[in-house]
Amino acid sequence: MQIGDVSVEAIYDGVMRAPATVFYRGTDEQQWAPHQRFLDADGMMRFDLGGFLVRGPGNSITLVDAGLGPRSGLVRDGAGTFQGGELLNSLASNGVKPEDVTNVVFTHLHFDHIGWATNEGQIVFPKATFRCHAHDLEHFRGNERVQPIMDPLADRLETWSDSGPLLPGIDVMNAPGHTPGSTIVVVSSGTSRALLLGDVVHCPVELLDDEWAGVGDVDPELAKRTRTALTRELEGTDTPVAAAHFPGLVFGRLLAAQGRRNWVVD
Ligand SMILES: [Zn+2]
Repeated sequence: MQIGDVSVEAIYDGVMRAPATVFYRGTDEQQWAPHQRFLDADGMMRFDLGGFLVRGPGNSITLVDAGLGPRSGLVRDGAGTFQGGELLNSLASNGVKPEDVTNVVFTHLHFDHIGWATNEGQIVFPKATFRCHAHDLEHFRGNERVQPIMDPLADRLETWSDSGPLLPGIDVMNAPGHTPGSTIVVVSSGTSRALLLGDVVHCPVELLDDEWAGVGDVDPELAKRTRTALTRELEGTDTPVAAAHFPGLVFGRLLAAQGRRNWVVD
């Protein structure tokens, strides 16, 4: 995805799978019938894991989210199973070495978004500055999955609290609910922009139906209000959006026609 003179590339780490009617508690097979394109042949949801590489402006290379981490085995958590381990290979195939990364920005601090920040206490991206929302740093303090990954970053971590510019070409937009510091990353250049939604939306189906909510939001009501505000803003605009778990980590647009919303992949 090219946004003016900034490029955004999907960086794959692995996959999380969960039964659709379990991840979207309260939905049934009939409701899924029109949304088969978001399901595997066996009715399972496939959520990709990984992040996005933002190149530019200039020599800056920013990784937005850092996947599940250097674990190739299957991890069970909540509704699904997670498998990661590929992120550094994906970076390498895009011609990027860990020491090339200048910034790492976390949309939130769930374990499947920070996994490659450190590996057994060692910082994986030796020249990067790491950034997250202050509310998430507070919320996940003491979390047994998060703290061991985040602790080694202490001297290299900067936090933000307010929506606004974070880095050249990168703004942050508070989007609380999934976690207290959940954030949408806005990549822009000139008049063009694209949104990286983090986990504000897990699957494009949530952009089509306001009532559907995946399990795992810290504050489900607030998360729903945030999602609804987002769909209202996106509807009918041509803004490309992608999220950390969208199938194939591909960008799409939320188009509106005849009173219906439609998700169109780029
Ligand atoms: Zn996630």
